[in-house]
Amino acid sequence: MEFRDTAEESAFRTEVRSFIKSNLNTDFRAMGEEGGEGGPDLRTALKPWRDALATRGWIAPHWPKEYGGAGMSPVEQFIFNEEMAEARAPQVGGMGVTMIGPIIILYGTDEQKKEHLPRITSGEIQWCQGYSEPGSGSDLASLQTRAVRDGDDYLVSGQKIWTSGAHRADWMFMLARTDPDAPKHRGISMLLMDMKSPGVTISPLITMAGDHVFNQEYFDSVRIPRRNLIGEENRGWYVGAALLDYERSNIAGSIGLRHSVNDLVRYVKDAAASNGQKPLRLSSALRTEIAERAIEADISRLISYRVITLQKRGQIPNYEASMNKLYRSEVSQRLARTGLAVIGMHGGLYRGDPRAPLKARFNHMYLSSVSGTIAAGTSEVNRNVIATRGLGLPRG
Ligand SMILES: Cc1cc2nc3c(=O)[nH]c(=O)nc-3n(C[C@H](O)[C@H](O)[C@H](O)COP(=O)(O)OP(=O)(O)OC[C@H]3O[C@@H](n4cnc5c(N)ncnc54)[C@H](O)[C@@H]3O)c2cc1C
Repeated sequence: MEFRDTAEESAFRTEVRSFIKSNLNTDFRAMGEEGGEGGPDLRTALKPWRDALATRGWIAPHWPKEYGGAGMSPVEQFIFNEEMAEARAPQVGGMGVTMIGPIIILYGTDEQKKEHLPRITSGEIQWCQGYSEPGSGSDLASLQTRAVRDGDDYLVSGQKIWTSGAHRADWMFMLARTDPDAPKHRGISMLLMDMKSPGVTISPLITMAGDHVFNQEYFDSVRIPRRNLIGEENRGWYVGAALLDYERSNIAGSIGLRHSVNDLVRYVKDAAASNGQKPLRLSSALRTEIAERAIEADISRLISYRVITLQKRGQIPNYEASMNKLYRSEVSQRLARTGLAVIGMHGGLYRGDPRAPLKARFNHMYLSSVSGTIAAGTSEVNRNVIATRGLGLPRG
């Protein structure tokens, strides 16, 4: 495998770096670290950073230029994401950019494109994904939320759960059952719902890390105009699988792991001493653990390279994407445990406590990384994909 950039890739990398140098100040960087779905709402504070990205189409790098994107190839996106992650730049765009925008580009009407796409590429509007329900997660096609035709509208009733960012979102893209008599994958439609519609109740779910990341929503005959149906009625299951040429390596996640290892090593080397405490002395078992985590973070990066190499060859990553997600989320849990073991008793202090080493990063990671092996496909489901599609084992 060739790790070096071609001349064009190298020129593009230089362009991204110089953009970051001119536009990413330390405030934005710090905000990015405390932000994210569980952190404060940074929509206003990050506006200058978002605007700078938007002028280049860099909020939606993989979208075609005609829709406000930058038309980047997967490799350019990879370089872009790699540089942004190395610089610890805050991520903007969210599910509007990664999920519903591409679906609207491929399946939306001209009216839907005109209404929604510009407000995604400007970073003005936030979206959430209403798929999971209390009885439907891995087996999503069993979902029960009903959408019943009523003149020019649908009346939607039911419940969604684990909806990340619903409390901040302006719109939800949802899957609802429009034909209860059809086989379960064939009676589902995709609808766009304005979160301010009468009949929507949002109820927060607080994680054990103390974050308000996700929510549950109750729908009581919520009226959604038929013009907000995406694609054909009862074909929503297939619409949901749409992806533009999206870079699927999640290089940002791999780099985030390495940053955390590096920060832990720096803490061991000098932070304890500079806080007026004795320098940390680690057992050889703990030193070995840190080394293992460093190696694992680098393996995660190599898996990301493998995925982007496939995409560069025009192939679609399949079980490789499952390997990537599974490995990264499990390393993250191990790294959190190692971090807490290294930091010791102070590691138990929560975010916001001035005595917490590394701003309580490892405590927060310890609590929040538990959900990483559930969100976006559980480890068991990903192992099934690797077993059947990667290893060719028969279905159980
Ligand atoms: C942090 C976080 C954010 C999320 N954000 C969103 C969001 O924004 N929008 C949204 O719609 N959903 C969201 N989800 C929900 C997520 O998609 C579901 O939690 C996930 O799909 C698992 O579904 P479930 O929780 O119903 O568990 P279940 O599917 O009920 O699984 C329970 C257990 O059974 C195992 N299992 C299930 N099926 C199989 C199988 N076939 N083979 C082997 N084992 C199996 C699972 O691995 C798991 O251990 C989020 C979840 C988390 C944790």
